[in-house]
Amino acid sequence: MRNSDLPPVPPLLRSSGSVEVITGSMFSGKTEELIRRLKRALFARQRVQAFKPRIDDRYDPTRIVSHQAVAVDAIAVATSQSLEERVAEGTQVVAIDEAQFFDRGIVEVCERLANRGIRVIAAGLDQDYLGRPFPPMPDLMAIAEEVTKVHAVCTVCGGPASRSQRLSIEASTVLVGGAESYEARCRACFEPHDVPRTER
Ligand code: ADP
Ligand code: MG
Ligand code: ZN
Repeated sequence: MRNSDLPPVPPLLRSSGSVEVITGSMFSGKTEELIRRLKRALFARQRVQAFKPRIDDRYDPTRIVSHQAVAVDAIAVATSQSLEERVAEGTQVVAIDEAQFFDRGIVEVCERLANRGIRVIAAGLDQDYLGRPFPPMPDLMAIAEEVTKVHAVCTVCGGPASRSQRLSIEASTVLVGGAESYEARCRACFEPHDVPRTER
C-alpha cells in the first residue's frame, strides 16, 4: 500500500504523526519503556496496536513481555509489509518491539504510518553482539523525531551498560535469548570477540 492510495488525512491528524525510537543494549529497559508509553496512551483512551516480529518467540508469541514479565497484547508478524497491512483504520499509536528483527522495509512503513498521523514507537537493539550497528535501527533512528537511549547495568563493573555480551560461541547474528545467552556490559567491560570470559 502506498501513501497515494490512502484517503486524505485530516490536517489535525496529519500534524500528530511521529516516530519515536527507544534503543540500547539487552536488559536496558527498552520493552519496559515501550510498555510505559503504551499504558499512558491507553489511559488517554487512544487506540493502540502493538506488534512484534514472529522470530522473537521468547516467553509468549502474542504479547510483548519485558524481562520483568510485564506484558501487553501484541500481534506477531513476519514482515514489515504484514505489519503495515494489519494497522487498523483509526489506530492512533503503533508500538513495535524488537524492531531490529524486521526487514529494511520497516523504515518506510514507520514513515508512512507517521505521515498518516500515527504515533509510532519502535524499540530495538542499536548494536549486535559484536557492537556493530544493528540494521535497520540506524536508519530508523535517523528518520525518528525522537530517539531515547536507555542503559542496562554492566554485569561486570556496575556502570551504565551499552553493549550486549554474548556468552556462548555461536556464529549467527540473530540468537534469540535472554539472561542465559547474553549479559549487559559497558564499553570497557565488553569483549567484542565472541569468546566467553572464562575461556580467555
Ligand atoms: P530490554 O527490552 O531492553 O531487553 P526489558 O525492559 O525487557 O529490557 O527488561 C529490563 C529489566 O531487566 C530491568 O528492569 C531489570 O529488572 C532486568 N535486568 C536484568 N539484568 C539487568 C541488567 N544487567 N541491567 C539492568 N536491568 C536488568
Ligand atoms: Mg525487549
Ligand atoms: Zn563495566
